[in-house]
Amino acid sequence: MPIVNRVAEFHDDMTAWRRHLHAHPELGFEETQTAAFVARHLAEFGVDELHEGIGRTGVVAVIRGREGNARIGLRADMDALPIQERSGVAHASTVAGKMHACGHDGHTAMLLGAARYLAETRNFAGTVCLFFQPAEEGRAGAKAMIEDGLFERFPVDEVYGLHNWPGMPLGSFGVCNGPAMAASDEFTIRLEGRGGHAAMPNLAADPVTAGATIVQAAQTIVSRQIDPLDNAVISITKFIAGDTFNVIPGEAVLNGTVRTFKPETRDFCERRLRELASGIASAMGLGCEYRYRRGYPPTVNHPNQSVAAGDAAAEIVGADRVDRNPMPVMGAEDFSYMLEARPGNYIWMGTHEGGPVSALHHPEFDFNDNALSIGTSYWARLVERLMSHEPV
Ligand SMILES: [Zn+2]
Ligand SMILES: [Zn+2]
Repeated sequence: MPIVNRVAEFHDDMTAWRRHLHAHPELGFEETQTAAFVARHLAEFGVDELHEGIGRTGVVAVIRGREGNARIGLRADMDALPIQERSGVAHASTVAGKMHACGHDGHTAMLLGAARYLAETRNFAGTVCLFFQPAEEGRAGAKAMIEDGLFERFPVDEVYGLHNWPGMPLGSFGVCNGPAMAASDEFTIRLEGRGGHAAMPNLAADPVTAGATIVQAAQTIVSRQIDPLDNAVISITKFIAGDTFNVIPGEAVLNGTVRTFKPETRDFCERRLRELASGIASAMGLGCEYRYRRGYPPTVNHPNQSVAAGDAAAEIVGADRVDRNPMPVMGAEDFSYMLEARPGNYIWMGTHEGGPVSALHHPEFDFNDNALSIGTSYWARLVERLMSHEPV
């Protein structure tokens, strides 16, 4: 496996960084020690610019290569999860109730490794910006950095992200061209009826019957109105109405979630749910208040950048170890905000080696350090291929 030789030489350092970060996890927007650790190392490596406090606790480093106009952004996430660790490893979390259960410690260590390599070798033409972002786990740290002017201050042409993937073997990569991860949204439907005696429904406007009709009808959005080859999930997960057996309640509240891959399917679900709920409510003589809250957008990879990412990965692990057409997953990822702002790719790096798979977000999860040199070599070759200074 052609790991970049120079990267292999600091595998032990990356392992030490990764284990230090693992032992000292911090939750979203609280990554002050992590950010300080990252910034200290970046300064040691001699990066050209170092910026802290972007999107609250984010860190950005700029490394200039040889003369060239290309500007590429590489991103790692730094936050941990509110989980009590049960891995039993020597470098387990020293903080009760917090752990790196998604491998962001590994992502941070690999991008630090890439920073060290790129600052030392500068074997590329143009500028590389390294984005160490806070709060990927549900709090949209990527969005916070963008809103803090990330792409105005560091105007990159393309962005690349990487996530460790325990369901794939070590020494393999998966790269979707197009949708990779779902958008995750939630909605509330409040039905305003008229309460009354359960024995005299003609004098009331019943939100329970209307709500039950909406639950049923909502199932037809996915099954009857969306292309069967597209994917979406609409689940109504909460239905609150009334509190006794002989009174028609005055209101009912429904909650649920919508998962989609395509922006147009997401827009369609939001609109059709509203039309369906308000139409059924008004047909039954009730008022309807509808609220739709958008979570992370779908993570949609761009075509040219996905080919480039797959080619760089193939150079490290071999073309037959890069799956260019893996199944997308219904999880969500806030790198999606960066992919909405700039063309780019989000790649999965296999980490599984023997034994049972330790799943992401599980209390026994620990990042596989044998993947560190692979991920860092991927970053190094991606940059050198995209920003080649050799005459073509
Ligand atoms: Zn996660
Ligand atoms: Zn993650």
